[in-house]
This record gives sequence, structure tokens and C-alpha cells, in this order.
Amino acid sequence: MLSSDEVKRLALAAGFDACGIARAEALTDSEYPLRQWLARGWHAELQYMERNVDKRLDPRRLVEGARTVICCVSAYPPPDSAGGIAAYARHRDYHTDIKQMLFALRQRLAIEAKACCDTAPISDKHWAARAGLGWIGRHTLLVTPRWGTWVNLGELVTTEECDRYDSPVSNRCADCRLCVDACPGGAIAPDGPPMIDAARCTAYYTTHHPRPLPDGLDARGYTLGCDLCQLACPFNRL
Ligand code: SF4
Ligand code: SF4
Repeated sequence: MLSSDEVKRLALAAGFDACGIARAEALTDSEYPLRQWLARGWHAELQYMERNVDKRLDPRRLVEGARTVICCVSAYPPPDSAGGIAAYARHRDYHTDIKQMLFALRQRLAIEAKACCDTAPISDKHWAARAGLGWIGRHTLLVTPRWGTWVNLGELVTTEECDRYDSPVSNRCADCRLCVDACPGGAIAPDGPPMIDAARCTAYYTTHHPRPLPDGLDARGYTLGCDLCQLACPFNRL
């Protein structure tokens, strides 16, 4: 049986800034509207998102017998200017560092666990939200109360039970639409569950699916990714 306090203490010792622990169960459609997003065709040509839907929604399909998802946050500095390269890509590739920190945490806990960071079919941000580390904003990113959206995420999925699990926090977007208004392509759903139309998101064309922007889309000076919806978010200005 894992001790929640001990897991969190060791996560900080491994270099993370915060840790939350969720019971490994299926995410609901309102927590992660993946099927709705796919049905709308808003994944554009990201065909890989059509695969492993069951695993993306339920970590027990990813790791047989999984009981616990240990979610970890590593904050990075906000950008000091808009345009050019998105904030997350201005630093060393975070995947390597996050994976190493997850391996270190796994070793300190002396458990078997699958270390995930953006590569396995599991949604890091939706699990971080389930584990109470923040909420999914309209721009579909995790908003943490302390660091806003300027965070990298990773998790350990394990069959170990934990003595205490965290609960999701309330979504604090309320009536705000600042990210919706800031998006040059109108990609962000103004209402309903957080969703982005990839074909209207300039970052889709400069990172996930490199090719020239279609007529009518303006990257507003970004050559890799885009931070405009994050820069507009009041939780990034605190
Ligand atoms: S990354 Fe840029 S283009 Fe994509 S949703 Fe956010 S503001 Fe819109
Ligand atoms: S800008 Fe407003 S609506 Fe968008 S994620 Fe931030 S708080 Fe939510």
C-alpha cells in the first residue's frame, strides 16, 4: 500500500513541483470529451488519436490491473515575449527530463509502474485534472492555480493501491472567454466541454502536422507552436 504523503514527498525529491494521485478508473465523457471531439472531426488529420480510444479513456486498458495514477507537474518559466517559438519549446526537450524524474520516483518508491509523458496513449493533462492539480481550461490545457498553464506533465501508472486519493478541483473558467477571443483561427469552442478544432489551430500546422497554413489562418509571428490562448489566460498573469 502506497502512502500518499510519502509519494508526494518523493515526487518533490525527484524534482517535480507538485504531485497528485488519482484512482485508475475510466475518465467520463465530460472530463475528457474525446469521442465527441473525434465525432466532430476536430482532430483533422491526427489519425493516431482515433486509435487506442479505450486506453486513452481508461488506464486499466493501458496497464492491466492498474489501480493508481501518480500525476506529476514540472513548472517552466513563462515566455517573456509572444511570437517565434512557443514557450514549452524554448527549453530543452522536456520529455527526456520528465521521463528521468519519473524513473527516479519509481525507483525511490520501489514499485513497478509505467512511466508516461506525452508518448503513451494516456492523456497527461486529463489525468492531472483528475488528480486535483488543476482544471482543463477552454483552451484544453491544464490550468494550475499556481503556475497557470506553464507546466509539463508526466505520470506513473501502477497496480499498487494508495492509502488516499485526490479529487478534482472546480473549473474556474466561469464566464471567461479570453482564450476564445485571442485565438486567431477561432479554433476554441466558446461553450460546452473544452475542445479545439485542430484544423483552425495554427499550432497544428507548425508542430503536429507541419505544412503551410491554409488561407485565412494567421500564425501571428509564431514559427513553432502558439502561446496566444495561454497568454490571454488570467491564470497566467497572476
Ligand atoms: S494554440 Fe494558438 S491557434 Fe491554437 S487554439 Fe491556442 S491561440 Fe488558437
Ligand atoms: S482564458 Fe479564461 S476561459 Fe480560457 S482557459 Fe483561461 S480562464 Fe478559462
